[in-house]
Amino acid sequence: MASMIFTDPSSAAAVHRLPFTRFSNGLNTLRRFVGPLHVSSPTPTLPRTLSVHSPRSSRFVTASMAIESSAKVIDGKAVAKQMREEISAEVSKLKETIGVVPGLAVILVGDRKDSATYVRNKKKACESVGINSFEVHLPDDASEEEVLKFISDFNGDPSVHGILVQLPLPSHMNEQNILNAVTIEKDVDGFHPLNIGRLAMRGREPLFVPCTPKGCIELLHRYGVDIKGKRAVVIGRSNIVGMPAALLLQREDATVTIVHSRTKNPEEITRQADIIISAVGQPNMVRGSWIKPGAVIVDVGINPVEDASSPRGYRLVGDVCYDEACKVAAAVTPVPGGVGPMTIAMLLSNTLSSAKRAFDIKIGALRIRVKASDEAGSRLAL
Ligand code: NAP
Repeated sequence: MASMIFTDPSSAAAVHRLPFTRFSNGLNTLRRFVGPLHVSSPTPTLPRTLSVHSPRSSRFVTASMAIESSAKVIDGKAVAKQMREEISAEVSKLKETIGVVPGLAVILVGDRKDSATYVRNKKKACESVGINSFEVHLPDDASEEEVLKFISDFNGDPSVHGILVQLPLPSHMNEQNILNAVTIEKDVDGFHPLNIGRLAMRGREPLFVPCTPKGCIELLHRYGVDIKGKRAVVIGRSNIVGMPAALLLQREDATVTIVHSRTKNPEEITRQADIIISAVGQPNMVRGSWIKPGAVIVDVGINPVEDASSPRGYRLVGDVCYDEACKVAAAVTPVPGGVGPMTIAMLLSNTLSSAKRAFDIKIGALRIRVKASDEAGSRLAL
């Protein structure tokens, strides 16, 4: 429950190889300057700081290295920032060339402070890249029908390309009914069963992939981590993180094992992994002894632990014991500053993809209509 306070299950969003190609410039940039990670061997001789030059923005991003450790730090904050710049440039181009501005609608029900903060952050993130945001805030005692009515209106509104219902919803509402009501074309959270089903099926493409697991894979891509043929262990099997993360890794040709609360010998299984994605919600559960030397670790967990030295009285830690992991792994995401910042970046990316797709569909439909009227015209002429 404690970790619930800091979890933002909605808005998280992803694409199999979907958005990765769009950001290939950034990927190459990071690969070029950070260099590829060789998961089979740690990199003990790396300098403690790496300057990552972004030629397009002429800025330098610093990926800090762990002190007294061999692991490279996977800097989610820097990657998310770079992604937001890329998204912002694409949004401007879309607006200038075809007059389309991507729009994201967020529905918040109730007065949970954490949810209100997440919604505020999403709004700010949208503004920072030029995406329009629409917000509906309903009271805690609002009816399911009211929420469904707003979803239906947003489903039909062409200026809205993504709809996000902030979770959790009040207990009197049926979450499934509500999430199912979002049209899959605007399901930027990727939680609709049709999108998840397509993610699970070979030869099918989801329109959107949940943001947090998408962010995990994006980090692996941008740091040049080979996934194909690797052994991956995902710890946690939730609908919003663990399960879609496992499906994404499998789509990238990893051999995937899922560890959950009933798994026997989780340590032994995890130690076989070249890539570990942990989404459990248990502070420091994955110890150094669970990690194969040279593994790459993506820590999704966000867990508050008491810390009298912090002004807030607590600090946030991941599922993975960071200090121990730094000594064994080839690369690791910190908490905070790893997966967290990627989640909102992925939501923006999904909203942008949705706007582009909607425009392509509109143009496609127009072409068909023009063609049909041309054909009708030539029949009349005959
Ligand atoms: P969740 O719905 O509570 O799922 C937790 C999963 O972990 C479940 O599958 C559970 O197994 C498994 N688990 C629990 N205890 C375990 C143990 N001792 N050993 C092995 N597996 C265990 O949580 P979630 O929503 O996926 O979130 C997980 C963590 O990620 C949380 O800390 C959350 O705050 C964080 N999170 C971060 C972001 C972000 O943007 N960075 C986004 C979402 C979530 P069973 O299925 O058997 O119960």
